[in-house]
Amino acid sequence: MRFTTRLLHEAFAPDAATGATTQPLYQTSAFYQPTAEEMARVFAGRKPGFVYTRVNNPTIARFEQRVNALEGGVGAVACASGMAAVSHAVLNILSQGDEILASGGLYGGTSSLFRDFASYGIGVRYAAGDSVADFRAALTERTRLIYIETIGNPKLDVVDIAALSVLAHAHGVPLFVDNTVTTPYLCQPLAHGADVVIHSTSKALNGNGNSIGGIVVSGGRFRWDAARFPKLREYPFGPMSYLVRLRLRMVTDYGGCMAPFNAYLTGIGLDTLALRLNRITANALSLATFFAARGERVNYPGLPEHPSHALAARQFGGRYGAMLTLRLGTRERAFRFIDALHYALNVSNIGDARTLVIHPASTIFLHASEEEKANAGVTDDLVRINVGLEDIEDLQEDFAQALDAR
Ligand SMILES: *Cc1c(COP(=O)(O)O)cnc(C)c1O
Repeated sequence: MRFTTRLLHEAFAPDAATGATTQPLYQTSAFYQPTAEEMARVFAGRKPGFVYTRVNNPTIARFEQRVNALEGGVGAVACASGMAAVSHAVLNILSQGDEILASGGLYGGTSSLFRDFASYGIGVRYAAGDSVADFRAALTERTRLIYIETIGNPKLDVVDIAALSVLAHAHGVPLFVDNTVTTPYLCQPLAHGADVVIHSTSKALNGNGNSIGGIVVSGGRFRWDAARFPKLREYPFGPMSYLVRLRLRMVTDYGGCMAPFNAYLTGIGLDTLALRLNRITANALSLATFFAARGERVNYPGLPEHPSHALAARQFGGRYGAMLTLRLGTRERAFRFIDALHYALNVSNIGDARTLVIHPASTIFLHASEEEKANAGVTDDLVRINVGLEDIEDLQEDFAQALDAR
């Protein structure tokens, strides 16, 4: 089965009870069992079934199975948001004294979260650049995981997942990859050697900007050394140990479960992922080429002059995502440009059906340090564009008039 057929048919079956062709929405908090004995068996994991939606729910389970199938994992756990997915995924294995080694220029919410971990005695170090040598130089005895994003936002840098996974495994630590920006349509990090994949499902997986959500997928191959990852010691379930602990100790205890309605809506959005991303990535490449031809300072991994172009071409199968950035010289001109656009909405998210723009320095990075801004490639004249599904001619005309605005 190829990707789009898998998208529609894997982990899909008409509802057994009614024949309904869309996944039913189980908008319920709890699940009944007819006898105390059967309830006891469900609790003990000896009878399949559901108990309480914070732990699991059929609508959420179906969504988890679908994303897991696309990513090629051994299982997935959905969360309340992308940030819940990041925090639950990482805290599932880290203890006081441990360190995260991350790529520079992480999503702002993630770098802010990692900064807060200092209060629990968990440190974070950032690699000085995108190369494996940069990561090797920043490894320490305390490093317990390497954390990257497939395409940095808004820096648009790309790390070689396969090469970095070799380094991580040689050091006895797993590689976690936030695949939000590329989605499994462009990149399946587990197939490149990564161990855990994280998504904000609020973005392109949903595609319509109607629900917040997140998900964690495990590849099931990493061997968790009991001395280095003591939290997993009590979960001796082989390839499932990470996920069992994630569901029981993180989502169930910390409480960041996905809402069934959000799983339902995001599942509908997921049906059209490939169709949307074909259009969006073609639009983004056209727009980037159009800006380059005008002599604008455009950054997009799909342009041949981008430093990571060859790696991105190989790793993402010839598509380069929806995000591009423009440097407009001054903050004033960046603001004028945004205000002059007719179609692009001035909002802070990404992965919508409509084209979106934002001035990162005065918004998402408002409270970032100068170092964090430099790491993320955020300058005062930078505008981030997230390309949508509109007709490319309309987008080009609109961006052209906004560039000419005085
Ligand atoms: C949006 C985003 C997140 C956070 O997801 P939410 O659903 O907004 O909590 C994490 N990582 C990346 C790369 C994102 O774009």
